[in-house]
Amino acid sequence: MQASPLQNIVIVGGGTAGWMSAAALATVLKDRCRITVVESDEIGTVGVGEATIPMIQRFNHLLDIDEDEFLRETYGSFKLGIEFVNWGRIGDRYMHGFGRIGRELWPVGFEQHWLRMRALGRAAPLEAYSIARMASKANRFLPPQLDMEDSPLREITYAYHFDASLYARYLRRRSEKLGVVRVEGKIVETRLRTDGEAADHVEAVVLDGGRRIEGELFVDCSGFRGLLIEQALQTGYEDWTHWLPCDRAWAVPCESARPFTPFTRSTAHRAGWQWRIPLQHRTGNGHVFCSAHMSDDEAASILMANLDGAPLAEPRLIKFRTGMRRLAWNRNVVAIGLSSGFLEPLESTSIHLIQSAIQQLIDFFPDRGFAAADVDEFNRQARFNYESVRDFIILHYHLNQRDDSEFWKQCARMEVPQSLAQKISLFESHGRIVRFNNELFSEVGWLQVMEGQNLVPRACHPLAGLKSEDATATYLESVREVIAKCVAVMPDHADYIAKHCAAKPV
Ligand code: FAD
Repeated sequence: MQASPLQNIVIVGGGTAGWMSAAALATVLKDRCRITVVESDEIGTVGVGEATIPMIQRFNHLLDIDEDEFLRETYGSFKLGIEFVNWGRIGDRYMHGFGRIGRELWPVGFEQHWLRMRALGRAAPLEAYSIARMASKANRFLPPQLDMEDSPLREITYAYHFDASLYARYLRRRSEKLGVVRVEGKIVETRLRTDGEAADHVEAVVLDGGRRIEGELFVDCSGFRGLLIEQALQTGYEDWTHWLPCDRAWAVPCESARPFTPFTRSTAHRAGWQWRIPLQHRTGNGHVFCSAHMSDDEAASILMANLDGAPLAEPRLIKFRTGMRRLAWNRNVVAIGLSSGFLEPLESTSIHLIQSAIQQLIDFFPDRGFAAADVDEFNRQARFNYESVRDFIILHYHLNQRDDSEFWKQCARMEVPQSLAQKISLFESHGRIVRFNNELFSEVGWLQVMEGQNLVPRACHPLAGLKSEDATATYLESVREVIAKCVAVMPDHADYIAKHCAAKPV
């Protein structure tokens, strides 16, 4: 049985999605396939997307990226989680920290023992059992200490913040070393085949000036415009703004401030929220808001009034529509990145969705036959990934008790997807959290948001009561003490960066 291998891949777009795709495909395919990236300096990139989640380490591992070099070149920093301010009620503050919380104690999860003891007034706040959260509070960072058996220091889980344009540049350099060819130019036309078995597949893109670039597989990384997947193939878009009504963001960098926090912050405002991403040379900020409830001017002034330091540029307005492309893979076009859909960056998931789309493309890598079963499965998985992240983000909005604006009241009242309603009722009744089909966010992610936004279960798991109250309290206390001791030996985040991966001063 002989496959008919592809020999010519064209990636349209040189933003984060384009260069991540190029670097990964070139690493996997080596010189078995020609890979061309077409990008236009005149059009540019979206220029945001600077916070990630821990799975990015797998991507870096695939590319054999040296962490210190990577952070030096992208002016990056470490991220142990996201702090949420004003999300449940104004004045509330909690964190979604990465990695595990507590220690298992048979026969139920740690959270069940904690819920039981909290109801009895014999537990510390949830954060006390999370090394990521306690280290964040103290602005400390250390990568996992793999030689420390059975210690929370072995399990530290982290992600990165980095400068988006430097990240694309970094991946471009790596891709070009692996043989990827970059073509600068603006695509003005997409040509479809008119005959044969592959009729209606994309045959070539044509640049301003007439140059024609042919391909067998096209990866559409052209950003929101979806040059091939939408403008050429008219695949269609599923709109989710009835669940996630924010549709704009102002973005602006500002001078760095101290302390150098190892986490992203998300502060809820009257009709949206503001991100804060600390990098080595600046802090990235943005205000995501709902234009039906707030004017552009008001949103910009809220952002500018809530910066850590002096702004380093004029704020930039970015418009978007939350949702996903009906098919991420259509004929011989695979959409990756913003061309495949958009979910606001509340949990820093877009770069991860790029990474998982690339992994799926590798898993279902086609030959010239483009088997329908492979394409269908790719699309099914892409939909599942988008929908499960969507539900997690809706949870933050829906679970609010704010009464200071119609925006928040509407979010609290809205009917949520059935899949999310089911998760909320499971937690409300007995604090149970079920991870559906290996979805991205684990039980501890859901727990931290539900607990952080004041959803209190009516009861805990009936089997949590099998252990005596005193034994459980002693057990919780021992976990808390171990975590506190571990955090005390971790270095300051700024010192760790200065020692291992300081970028050149700008
Ligand atoms: P783009 O960066 O827009 O790149 C598109 C490319 O296509 C460009 O190179 C452009 O020149 C090229 N192109 C387009 N048309 C043509 C043409 N006609 N001819 C030639 N080339 C063309 N994600 C996260 O994971 N974490 C975050 O913190 C985060 N924050 C975000 C904040 C906001 C406000 C927004 C809107 C998004 C955020 N994202 C975040 C998402 C993240 O920015 C994107 O997923 C990521 O940057 C990938 O973008 P892209 O490469 O798909 O598109």
